[in-house]
Amino acid sequence: MPKRVVVLGAGFGGLELATTLSEEFGDGADVTLIDRSDAFVFGYSKLDVMFGRTTLDAVRLPYRELAKPGVRFLQEEITAIDPEAKVVATDAGTHEADYLVVALGADYDFDATPGLAGSTEFYSVAGAVRLSELLPDFSQGRVVVGVCGAPYKCPPAPSEAALLMHDYLTAKGVRDDCSISIVMPLPTPVPPSPDTSEALLAAFAERDIEFTGGVRIGSVDAARGVATLEEGGEVGFDLFLGVPKHRAPDVVIASGMAVDGYVPVSSQTLETLYPGVYAVGDVATVGVPKAGVFSEGAARVVAKELIAALRDESPPAAYDGLGSCYIEFGAGRIGRVDVDFLSGPKPTGTFQEPSVALVKEKEHFGASRRARWFGL
Ligand SMILES: Cc1cc2nc3c(=O)[nH]c(=O)nc-3n(C[C@H](O)[C@H](O)[C@H](O)COP(=O)(O)OP(=O)(O)OC[C@H]3O[C@@H](n4cnc5c(N)ncnc54)[C@H](O)[C@@H]3O)c2cc1C
Repeated sequence: MPKRVVVLGAGFGGLELATTLSEEFGDGADVTLIDRSDAFVFGYSKLDVMFGRTTLDAVRLPYRELAKPGVRFLQEEITAIDPEAKVVATDAGTHEADYLVVALGADYDFDATPGLAGSTEFYSVAGAVRLSELLPDFSQGRVVVGVCGAPYKCPPAPSEAALLMHDYLTAKGVRDDCSISIVMPLPTPVPPSPDTSEALLAAFAERDIEFTGGVRIGSVDAARGVATLEEGGEVGFDLFLGVPKHRAPDVVIASGMAVDGYVPVSSQTLETLYPGVYAVGDVATVGVPKAGVFSEGAARVVAKELIAALRDESPPAAYDGLGSCYIEFGAGRIGRVDVDFLSGPKPTGTFQEPSVALVKEKEHFGASRRARWFGL
């Protein structure tokens, strides 16, 4: 594999891409994988950390464990991307690529929601840790799970947070002294799958969790305990579980690759408007939700395309937009929704009832990635 592949971002997409190329070419691969962090954390681990089900140390997967033939991991901050020249600048130097893959995820735009930075959120690792420190002292009042804009990562996560909060407060013996509500821009919890939405709404009703769809949080006043809605009106809270507005990282916006906040790509090949430059995962606009399983699926397609190009073979099948998301329903059960975003005229989803068996399946999902990507 004589050509240089530079992969920006070592999240779901970047890790899967680098792993697949390493498996295919071994030492003959020439892959540079760059991330500013020293460790990867699964998105869903933030819920586990927030509710004290685990510690941050236990869920951090350090990149120093990456020992993939043909892959060089660099912990560097990417400061500029030139997609025409396929050159990337970092705080440590420049990297030239023959193929460039942007897998930098979505960033949180705290400035877009006045007051949110001074309040609490569970979408960043730091935010989840902060909430894990506050929750033990919370024993009465109004919990509001508030989503500030769409699209956002893992559409079921706000619903999961509310259901797990119910379990947390129940186990503490204070559920009757607390209310839980969810405010989100989507009209239903998981719009592509009416069955999933119905099951979640039924679970909310059983647990006395109030759901309001079709509205977004416009600003947060932590001192007064009030969030305003963009559509008008206010919600009072004693504990705010915010979901910030998302957008592509600044370095991607500054590169000129983004349109309306994200990088447009071919939904079949994930190639951007720049030949030899691909974008996978949350950073791209491809018509699928922002979730790790979709980033991983897109990365697999790009890996196959690069393998085909490097071996001078015919290109692989197009990206299929399929993915399965696990949903924490609380009470020790997990449901699953299998979604198909690209094959029909509109997205469809098939729901599997929450069960203990799916708890095991989700554990296997995480363990298999830990093993495949990190050898752990
Ligand atoms: C609470 C919560 C629960 C979730 N649950 C699930 C779930 O159950 N299933 C699921 O599939 N998904 C889930 N997700 C979503 C999932 O985490 C993301 O969609 C997924 O991580 C996206 O993968 P990615 O590769 O596109 O980007 P990321 O995994 O976000 O990776 C991007 C990488 O780029 C790096 N980076 C960014 N900017 C720079 C820079 N300038 N220089 C260097 N490095 C940079 C970042 O450090 C990061 O490591 C959840 C998310 C949250 C917040």
